[in-house]
Amino acid sequence: MITSNFFVNFNLIQDKNRIRDILVKDGRYRRDAFDYMGNLIKKYSEDKKYNVAIDRETFAITLWIIKYINEKPLINRFIIDQRDVFMNKITQISLESFDHLIEYFGALGIEDASIETVGNKYLFRIPFDIFIRYNKKLSGNKYRLVYQMLDSGYVYIDLRQAAHILREQFVAKMNKIYDKMDYSDSKDIFEGFYDKLDELKKEFIEINRKKTMNLGEIDSSIFPPCIKEYINEINDGGNPSHMARLALATFLHHIGMDNEHIVKIFSRTADFDESSASYQIGHLTGSISGTEYSPPKCATLKSNHLCYMGDDALCQRIKHPLQYYEIKAKDKINSRKK
Ligand code: SF4
Repeated sequence: MITSNFFVNFNLIQDKNRIRDILVKDGRYRRDAFDYMGNLIKKYSEDKKYNVAIDRETFAITLWIIKYINEKPLINRFIIDQRDVFMNKITQISLESFDHLIEYFGALGIEDASIETVGNKYLFRIPFDIFIRYNKKLSGNKYRLVYQMLDSGYVYIDLRQAAHILREQFVAKMNKIYDKMDYSDSKDIFEGFYDKLDELKKEFIEINRKKTMNLGEIDSSIFPPCIKEYINEINDGGNPSHMARLALATFLHHIGMDNEHIVKIFSRTADFDESSASYQIGHLTGSISGTEYSPPKCATLKSNHLCYMGDDALCQRIKHPLQYYEIKAKDKINSRKK
């Protein structure tokens, strides 16, 4: 059931004829979408969020503008900013009625969520496979399956947990819809508006080029596939999981990068907060905590779905990402001597 209260109209987004119609016939939505996009790009250039709520028509047109611009960091930024709008909305509706939150699960494709009274608490009852599908980027024991109350294939979670699972579901749904949208359809939709869009695209590409990650003296060509993948995700403006961030920060520290530089690398994540990132990196690298943490072993990364070895031959015979870097660095030095 798609609730009428839901703040995104997924059917509208996928109906390109209706989008074209709205775009041509109603200048208000067109102007709002172009204004929103201009501001989103400006905020992106300033490393700031733009978590402003927009109506459903403007949302749908904006998403198609992003498809036309066709740059991964831009869609990642839009989805993360709208994810925050979604969280605010959830907080607001949970004050009115928990039933509306159940409707939100339905709107995102989870029909069999319900609310039950357990002791003196209201808890959300959701299928356990949904919980483990969307808990991966959520850190803390509250989101690990082993700490949950489980019964007959269902997990019982509180309001805060439900809101975060919904949030991750929203991100996954938006990514899925965006991936299904066809670039050539965006050309049809915006026929007659190419000049303005090409201007926005040019502006975004230039800003993004200046932001490209600088790894200084460090040779990233010999990084293991997992570390390259986390860096790519950050370069695309994504939000790596807590463990991927921990692995990346400790890896860069162990190969000699200073804290300031590591913080700069994380500044490209969509949810970057400088003071919290500086504190966490200081903690992991020992400058605050006195304990220097090591990157997780390959086995730990594998069990957290964070290994990207593919058919890499060296990955088949190592146990730790730092081992990969050391072997490659030695090979490189040896090949220079020959
Ligand atoms: S095998 Fe280890 S080093 Fe290689 S990608 Fe997987 S986790 Fe990274």
